[in-house]
Amino acid sequence: MNLIFFGPPGAGKGTQAQKLVETQAIPQISTGDILRANRRDGTGLGLEAQTYMDRGLLVPDQLVIDMVGARLQDSDCEGGYILDGFPRTVAQAVALDEFLEKRDSSIDKVVVLTVPDGLIVERIVGRRSCGNCGAGFHVEFKPPAKQGVCDVCGSELAQRSDDTEEKVRVRLNEYAQNTAPVAAYYKQRGIVREINGVGGMDEVFGRLTEALEN
Ligand code: AMP
Repeated sequence: MNLIFFGPPGAGKGTQAQKLVETQAIPQISTGDILRANRRDGTGLGLEAQTYMDRGLLVPDQLVIDMVGARLQDSDCEGGYILDGFPRTVAQAVALDEFLEKRDSSIDKVVVLTVPDGLIVERIVGRRSCGNCGAGFHVEFKPPAKQGVCDVCGSELAQRSDDTEEKVRVRLNEYAQNTAPVAAYYKQRGIVREINGVGGMDEVFGRLTEALEN
């Protein structure tokens, strides 16, 4: 199944995608994660993306389109994939369609996670992750046993540099301006499934699996 997980930053796309990866043998392709890995490795792409990411702005379309095009050609995507954080503009959605059409492929479903803005800010600002194993925590909703330390591997937890309240507001604005119209682009095809992203991880996952069956 070729899936797109769609929704504002902090809606739980990454968390829910990770849960689905555990039950389906398909990879999660997070453009944010790939860009952050490029930044860490100091690649040309990472350096170019950095200035935008640091300000909470979207990275230029062509950079992300080329990056996803390359990733989708990896053999682990043959049985399907979950796109998490892509497409984020209508131009990206059009480019994805063109790429897939050439390969006689298409997107099966677009899952839209909805969460009110107030809760998004609370979720994102409290978010922490392990710099070593990538495990995710939240200072209030999912605190580690020992403050600032990963429960899984004992390494130090860190906050993403764009997870401050000020940058979340910029990212929410980017979402409203550029990304929200992408849902309308897919809606005409009848493949959009909107689910309420408020609630516990398992509760939301229950809604997600139900939505994917219909
Ligand atoms: P995320 O981890 O999905 O919240 O993405 C973090 C940041 O990476 C975003 O604020 C953007 O700067 C950049 N980014 C991730 N995905 C995309 C995309 N599809 N298009 C443009 N920029 C992106």
